[in-house]
Amino acid sequence: LGADPLTQRINEKQEKWTYKIAVLSGKGGVGKSTVAVNLAAALAKKGYFVGILDADIHGPNVAKMLGVDRAEVLAEKMEDGRFEMIPPMNDFLGQTTPIKVMSMGFLVPDDQPIIWRGALVTKAIKQLLGDVNWGSLDFMIIDFPPGTGDEILTVTQTLKLDAAVIVTTPQEVALLDTGKAVNMMKKMEVPYVAVVENMSYLICLHCGGEIDIFGKGGGKKLAEKEGVDFLGGIPIDLKAREASDAGMPIVLYEDTVAAKAFMEIVDKLV
Ligand code: ADP
Repeated sequence: LGADPLTQRINEKQEKWTYKIAVLSGKGGVGKSTVAVNLAAALAKKGYFVGILDADIHGPNVAKMLGVDRAEVLAEKMEDGRFEMIPPMNDFLGQTTPIKVMSMGFLVPDDQPIIWRGALVTKAIKQLLGDVNWGSLDFMIIDFPPGTGDEILTVTQTLKLDAAVIVTTPQEVALLDTGKAVNMMKKMEVPYVAVVENMSYLICLHCGGEIDIFGKGGGKKLAEKEGVDFLGGIPIDLKAREASDAGMPIVLYEDTVAAKAFMEIVDKLV
């Protein structure tokens, strides 16, 4: 039995993506999208060709974080009569290679909630993979919805992921859910699974010292317990919010502690 045409298209396209990395979190609000966007920008800053798919159907803010939320998504007609969407790009005034971005947010008005059942979410994500003219990429980053839902399982089965980066904050409650996401990726036999701890600590504006608001080290302990890599911690940086509102990933702001932390994580990953 052959795969359905959409899955077949995804299979053809993913041949041209060297590394496919999913970014996940056990729960929302831990900075999953921030990590996905900065991972993409850091890789593009190093000269790699990067595409990022905002598959977080419930809070699609990747496009805004990358400054392409107002872009018009054009479509082109393929030889077989189908239309494919052309992903908007941003190169941050030449600071990076052009990053290709596709998001459900482009297709649904800002003020409309997406209230779909799992199967529809899965279909939508698969279309954003298979009906978009992504071309050849060194890295395809997928910002998944938070949690361990069905759509993640199904899409992971289709996409042969090379790595999964699980984002957590240091608090106990977040860590419990993070363990579930780590185990899901291990069960799906993703070859490389790693944990990133976001909002690890705060930099004191007066002395530059580190303040551990939520207690540090939880992400590392969890990674050790689950037998996966710990890629590092990212501080709470007041510029991070400013950056995401400005559509400029913090990793492109020179000499911030967060930018350094992101670059170190990416150096470990590649
Ligand atoms: P998620 O994708 O997990 O829901 P987001 O990446 O959207 O989380 O982040 C939630 C909010 O927290 C955003 O407003 C973002 O700018 C902010 N944020 C994330 N990481 C940091 C950080 N390290 N320092 C400061 N603010 C952050």
